Formats: sequence, structure tokens, C-alpha cells
Amino acid sequence: MSKHQLSNFIGGKFVDPINSAYLDSCNPATGQVFAKVPRSGKEDVDDAVSCALKAFPSWSEQPTQFRSKVMLKIADILESRLDEFAKLESQDQGKPITVAKAIDIPRAIYNFRFFATYILHMVEEQRTLDGPIRALSYVQHMPVGVAGLISPWNLPLYLLTWKIAPAIAFGNTCVAKPSELTSLTAYKLCGVFNEAGLPPGVVNIVFGLGPDAGEALVCHPEVPLISFTGSTLVGNRIAELTAPMCKKLSLELGGKNAGIVYEDVDLDECVDACIRSSFSNQGEICLCTSRLYIHHSIYNDFLNRFVTAARNFRVGDPSDPNVNMGALVSAQHYEKVKGYIELAASSGGVVHCGLGVDELPQDCRGGHYIAPTVITGLTESSPCIQDEIFGPVVCISSFQTDEEVLKKANGVRYGLCATLWTKDVNRALTISRKLRVGTVWTNCWLVRDLHMPFGGMKMSGVGRESGADSKHFFTEAKTVCLRI
Ligand code: NAD
Repeated sequence: MSKHQLSNFIGGKFVDPINSAYLDSCNPATGQVFAKVPRSGKEDVDDAVSCALKAFPSWSEQPTQFRSKVMLKIADILESRLDEFAKLESQDQGKPITVAKAIDIPRAIYNFRFFATYILHMVEEQRTLDGPIRALSYVQHMPVGVAGLISPWNLPLYLLTWKIAPAIAFGNTCVAKPSELTSLTAYKLCGVFNEAGLPPGVVNIVFGLGPDAGEALVCHPEVPLISFTGSTLVGNRIAELTAPMCKKLSLELGGKNAGIVYEDVDLDECVDACIRSSFSNQGEICLCTSRLYIHHSIYNDFLNRFVTAARNFRVGDPSDPNVNMGALVSAQHYEKVKGYIELAASSGGVVHCGLGVDELPQDCRGGHYIAPTVITGLTESSPCIQDEIFGPVVCISSFQTDEEVLKKANGVRYGLCATLWTKDVNRALTISRKLRVGTVWTNCWLVRDLHMPFGGMKMSGVGRESGADSKHFFTEAKTVCLRI
């Protein structure tokens, strides 16, 4: 029996979908139905957009301090309920409770605090022209209107709030559609909005499937801006749909991220960090390392240590605070990841460890678990090297020269991030410059300064997110020129 029945959040009220249709959402750890999620359609999206449009004039004219204060209150309430939200996120997504507690929910809280305070300190540009005509020009960053926000299932609340917070901070109202696989914490957040005194209609959340509710939002003529995080396939579809309407578009898409390890590293430290970058959140982070290139002189040593550490990375019930990895998000995703591992094994790859998990508690036997999987022996053209698998699978090979490793690292259609392991600063600077990715981490991974641009090159996306980048995206810059 499902534990949670969700409803849409429109105009500050919880409402059932107009068609009364619901989707089953499973707890990935058990495979059991865990929540009923509205299968909303175009009519629900239309209602949500109407409410957002109605709320826009007042919200966009509110003093910045008012918007900031409400957002800080949202963050405070969320923080006071961190344990509850973390538990729900873990049950809904399959990630270890410890990850939800240490990463997902704290970051969601910080997203609100970051933008609530960012807007208090903005200084707009101005210039005086001193030619034959003297003029003072200044820039106004105006909210765009109703923002359409679409998010994926891997970091549900973290990524949704990374969109909602800047959208409303800069004076927009919004309609959000979280992933149908992980809608629960978004639903719970709606109660927090009301408790914090967010005016009705500023944030509306409509649940449901991408091709129904998602496309209705993307194509709505009164939604001039779409911020999307998800797969490259769907990102392409959204770009196609919105092109004739000249919508502002931000696309944060897939990755196939390389880790490059040179011979001068501290191997213990490096192996430990590469294990985390490959298998955290079951490998279901767009920034996870999925290809490791190791300098030939340390290749065997690295591989032995890495395989041993992967075998020791504990997989199990996400509610157990001692596990390192939980369950994959769905049966369908499990089949996809398994398919790639089988393909690797049947096409000349060596699978050193991974796939099945032997010892699982009784309750978890219907869950979708895959052990950290390490593969070698594949050619660079293999689908396992070229495609985003988005699971706990890493392919390892060796390299001899900078030129060779750069060709391999850059030899995929994605360009989200890379990690580089070396003590040689000159080499780090040279290789970083030549990597065709949006972020290069050197001797670390997933260290985020929210002021720094985040986004992908090539098929990993269009646009960047950060304090300043999100300001540019969620506003229209207007130049006002006064002759003096
Ligand atoms: P997805 O593209 O299948 O779905 C993402 C969202 O889009 C969901 O809410 C879904 O319902 C919606 N959607 C699906 N079809 C749609 C359509 N036709 N129109 C409008 N909306 C539609 O992605 P996913 O499987 O949920 O997430 C995994 C993907 O997200 C991976 O490729 C991963 O790399 C990527 N991702 C990227 C980043 C980043 O910052 N670059 C971060 C996290 C995840």
C-alpha cells in the first residue's frame, strides 16, 4: 500500500489533478509502491501558469528585502525539518540516508540562503558617456515573468531548489515540474512555502510525466523562460520545441566525465577520492567520474587498489547509516545499467568486480541494487565509454602522454566536468586549459563555490548557473539612457 498521496500545489493550495489520474512511485530500496503522484495534464499546467501570472505583478514589485526575508524563513523551516526531509529523500530516491542528510537537504537549504542574501548585495552597472552627447546609462535587471522549471530524479530537492531559489529571488514567479520518479520532497516543500508566508502563486508545483505536464509547461505561450536539468535527449527535444518561441533556455544535461591520474599522486588519497567520485549516490550524479585514465607507470598498482576499495564500498539498505551506496532509482534504470555491464563483458571488457549484491536484508530483496562495477579492456569507441550510463560503473584504462590522454578525455560528445590528479601545478594548468568541459577539479571533486559558473560544453548543455549567471538568466537586462 502506498504511504503518500501527493497533490499539485497551485495558487498556494493543494489540489488534485483535474483528470484524477495518479502514477505509482516506488521506493527503490524495496521495489514497493511508496507514493501516488498526480499524472497532471495540460489543464493543470494552464491553471498553475494562470496563478503564477496573477502573482507576478505584486511579487516582482516587492522590495528585495521582503523577498529575501521570506526565502530565509523557507531555509530556516527546512533546516528545522532536515531529518524528516532527508529520510523522505532517501526513501524516494534510493540514496543512503547519510548522503541525503549531509548533502541533498543542506544544499537545498543553502540554495535559498545563497540567493536570499545574493540579491541584497547586487550593484548595477552604470556609465557616463562624455562624447559630443553626454549621457548617463544604467542597467536594470528586470524579472522575466513566469519561469518554467523542470528537474531530474538524482538530486531531487537539491536541483529543484537550485532553480526555484534564483527564479523567485530575482522577482519571477514559477511553475515547477519535478521528476515523476522523485516528487515527494518537492511536495513537502510546498507546505514550507505556505508556512514561511510565501504569497500564493509565487511557486506552483505540478507533478507528472515529461511528455504530458513537462511539454505543456515547455510549450506554454505565457512561460518565456525554461530552466531544465536532465538528459541530453530531452534537452534536445526542449530546444526544438522552444526555438520558434524565442524562449530563454538553460539546459543542464548529461555527462561522461573523465578522471585523469598522473604518476606523482598520493595513491591512497587519490584512490579514495576516485572511489567517491565514481560511486557516490550510486554513480547517479551528472558529475560522477565514469572514465578513469591512469598513467601507465602506476596503472597496475592503481587498478589493484581501486578494485579492492570498490569491493569494500558497502551497498545495502539506504536507511542503514553504515552503507556507502543504496539502490538505483528504478527497475527501468537498473535494466539500463545492467545492459551496459553485460555489453562490456560480451565485447571484450574485463569486469573486475560489481553487478550483483549478495547480502541484502529481506525487505530489500525487491530493490534495484548494483555493486560498484569496474571494467577494463574496452576500446574508446565502446558504448560503455561513449554513452552516459549514470550508474555505479567506471571504465579504466592507461595512458602514456598528455596528448594521448587529452584526446581520450575530450573524445566524447559530452563536456560537463573532469577531475585531474597531479602535484605538478604547471601540468594542472596546461591540461585544465585543454579539457573541453565546464568544470575541472584538480585534486578534489564536487567542491562547489556557488559564485562560480556551473554548466556544460558540447552536448552537456547550454548556459551557466551561479550567482551572477543565474541573475543574467532569470532577468532581462534593460539599459536606460538619460541625456545630461
Ligand atoms: P530526463 O531528461 O529523463 O528527465 C528530466 C525531467 O524532464 C523530468 O522531470 C522529466 O519528467 C522531464 N521530461 C521528460 N521528458 C520531457 C519532455 N518531453 N518535455 C519536458 N519535460 C520532460 O532525465 P532524468 O532521467 O530525470 O535525469 C538524469 C539525467 O539528468 C542524466 O542525463 C544526468 O546527467 C542529467 N543531470 C544533469 C545535471 C547537470 O547539472 N548537468 C544534473 C543532474 C542530472
